[in-house]
Amino acid sequence: MPNASMDAHETGSATAASSIDTDVLIVGLGPVGAALANLLGRYGVRVLAVDKATEIFTKPRAIALDNEALRILQSVGVRDGEFATVALPQVQYYSPLFGRFARINSAGIVDGHPMVVTFYQPELEQLLRSKLAQYPGVEVRLGVALESFTEEGHQVLASLKDQDGALLQVCARYLVGADGANSLVRCLLGLEFEGRTFAQDWLIVDALDVPNPIDHCEFICDPRRPTPHMVAPGGRQRWEFMLKPGERPEEMERPESVRRLLAPWCDADHVRIERTAVYRFQAREARSFSKGRCFLAGDAAHVTPPFAGQGLVAGLRDAANLAWKLAWVVRGHADESILDSYDAERRPHARKIINLARFLGALVMPGNRAAAFVVHGLMSAIRLLPAGRRLFEDLKMKPENTFDSGLFWRDKRAERLRAGSTLPQGWVRPGSASAPMLSDDALGLHWALIGIGVDPAARVRPDQLERWQRAGGKVWQWCHRAQAQHLGAATQRLEALDEALLPRRAPLGWSVIVRPDRCVLAEGPVEQVEAMLEQALRRIAPAAKVPAARNSPASSTSLVDAV
Ligand SMILES: Cc1cc2nc3c(=O)[nH]c(=O)nc-3n(C[C@H](O)[C@H](O)[C@H](O)COP(=O)(O)OP(=O)(O)OC[C@H]3O[C@@H](n4cnc5c(N)ncnc54)[C@H](O)[C@@H]3O)c2cc1C
Repeated sequence: MPNASMDAHETGSATAASSIDTDVLIVGLGPVGAALANLLGRYGVRVLAVDKATEIFTKPRAIALDNEALRILQSVGVRDGEFATVALPQVQYYSPLFGRFARINSAGIVDGHPMVVTFYQPELEQLLRSKLAQYPGVEVRLGVALESFTEEGHQVLASLKDQDGALLQVCARYLVGADGANSLVRCLLGLEFEGRTFAQDWLIVDALDVPNPIDHCEFICDPRRPTPHMVAPGGRQRWEFMLKPGERPEEMERPESVRRLLAPWCDADHVRIERTAVYRFQAREARSFSKGRCFLAGDAAHVTPPFAGQGLVAGLRDAANLAWKLAWVVRGHADESILDSYDAERRPHARKIINLARFLGALVMPGNRAAAFVVHGLMSAIRLLPAGRRLFEDLKMKPENTFDSGLFWRDKRAERLRAGSTLPQGWVRPGSASAPMLSDDALGLHWALIGIGVDPAARVRPDQLERWQRAGGKVWQWCHRAQAQHLGAATQRLEALDEALLPRRAPLGWSVIVRPDRCVLAEGPVEQVEAMLEQALRRIAPAAKVPAARNSPASSTSLVDAV
């Protein structure tokens, strides 16, 4: 078992031969690698995180995050206001033929966070990196590139090189490739990156001191030059211009070209152009997100055109899904086969997000005027129907983060919260504290057995309770406001201050088992809680025997359920 109290120097156990022994080697310290390293650090896992670059990438990339991403960052330890965000009240779609043909209402709060915000990616990356210093088990090495690795027995042996050419050998129990779209890890694992690269280049422009800035996001879906435009923190405005055939990226990035493109929007001569970049978008996913003891996360596993603002969000979902599984296995609290559920859960959802982005891309960049007429005309017509309007305006077309198969089980006769989906988050007052807090913070990064208005501890056997606590589980009563005083131990009480969970989502007398990543493992009436807990314990408990190598036939009786 790793020793969480070791300091950074001991953690790496560096020797004269420049070899390091660790639990998890993270290759790539972009936002996804950094979020994962933080989560593993919070769980007390020994981590070596390397990046071949010495500086954070500062070219314009992600600008939007949704409530799911903000909730994951909350679990990573990012507090409200620690990085600048601007909430987007709406997203509008304009066509030269039909005017405003679609609108998304993105105002409002979901699970304690704004539905959509814009942010400045380098600031978030800097924040995530700075937080790593607090974890004694996490060592960061910049300017160190992965060169090769092999899997031997229960270990991954990796060769890395620093910028002076010095070699570093790393022996890790697991390796995570968070090394971006051109992932060497993915390449060395021989995993194809399936999908397509679009034909068009896009010029991204972040500008400051823009007269008449907008406070929302708009997509000008003109087939001659599709142009998304939105507000961002720090007084920024972002434009994304699709380049036409024959327009060369290096020429279009020149200040005079950028000012020409900005001229229809504002007094371009008085605008400060902060940064520009040209990208060719891709929609691809790795054939598998894991192989043996190696995992892919973030752009290494999937890339999507930015029209849904979901590339990094999907990467953060990867980090949240993978971190606790690695932590529980490394600490000996769970069987290694729970790791199989990472690919089973994450890959289908990442594909749904890519498909959403492709759909929105078809709205934003119809190939020609005829396609624009058909697509935008159809969208205008759909808006006339209440159901169609709701689908788009209320963001109902965004795939829910609910798994079809994975580490959970559903009882279709008793379904309220839907196992395999995420537990709603609300404001609660823990019995042991007076200040309201978000429920994820109250639950902590643990397994949770929750009784809705009832004490589930009273319904399970003492030996189960003891095994549950040994496996890192806690027990809670989530009570109606002012109901709490009738119930059991105050340390296990959460008093609901809103209706995020009860009574709308789960009735009184309900019980639910929630994973550390807030995915519902199982649910049912509290009368069934003893059987539910027994099954949960069986599924996560480490096998008594030495586990067989992953992906070997012997380990195929995994915890991954096809539901
Ligand atoms: C124009 C644009 C707009 C976007 N808009 C959005 C948006 O609004 N919302 C959203 O959610 N997403 C958006 N995205 C996507 C988002 O930016 C990416 O998904 C995200 O940055 C990926 O993070 P990552 O950590 O997976 O990879 P990266 O940020 O690419 O990090 C990978 C890291 O791995 C390192 N590395 C690579 N190879 C090695 C090696 N061999 N050894 C060691 N280190 C290595 C690299 O130096 C790098 O630091 C956008 C992208 C673009 C281009």
